Formats: sequence, structure tokens, C-alpha cells
Amino acid sequence: AYVIAEPCIGTKDTACVDACPVDCIHPKKDAEAHANEPMLYIDPVECIDCGACVPVCPVSAIFALDDLPEKWKEYAEKNAKYFGR
Ligand code: SF4
Repeated sequence: AYVIAEPCIGTKDTACVDACPVDCIHPKKDAEAHANEPMLYIDPVECIDCGACVPVCPVSAIFALDDLPEKWKEYAEKNAKYFGR
């Protein structure tokens, strides 16, 4: 699965949400949770590894799990946890 890391915090651009073909990036802009969450997350179970979200992120916050920088490794768990995975 793909993982959203630290650069998303304080940015929360939603281009990735619009780009994702399976709608697995949450919370959505119109969701109540959007205001409360510091960043967006990818559901690791629903993600189909298409990579469409990567080039549209203005802050390069999204990585394939295998390419996730060591310093942001904990974000794999943070993304999964948001969805109760
Ligand atoms: Fe969605 Fe594809 Fe990004 Fe996975 S890799 S979150 S399926 S756009």
C-alpha cells in the first residue's frame, strides 16, 4: 500500500483524494473529521497500489511502503490506524 507521511501535516491538500480511483484517502474535505485530523491517510487494505496520488501531491508526502523514508516509518502504522486496520 501507499502511505502518507509527515509533509501532509498542515497541508492537507486534497488533490490525492480526487485522484484516487478507489476513494481510499480520508478524511474528505467535506467530512467533519477533516477539520480535526492533522493530515490525510490512506486505507492500506483498499489501496490498489496504482500510484495516481503520488504526482498530484504538492508536498511529496506520499510514498509506496517500500520507499517510505526511514524517518517516517511510523506513518505506515498511523495511516492504518486511522482506518482501524
Ligand atoms: Fe489511491 Fe492509488 Fe494512491 Fe492507493 S496508490 S491511495 S489506490 S491513488
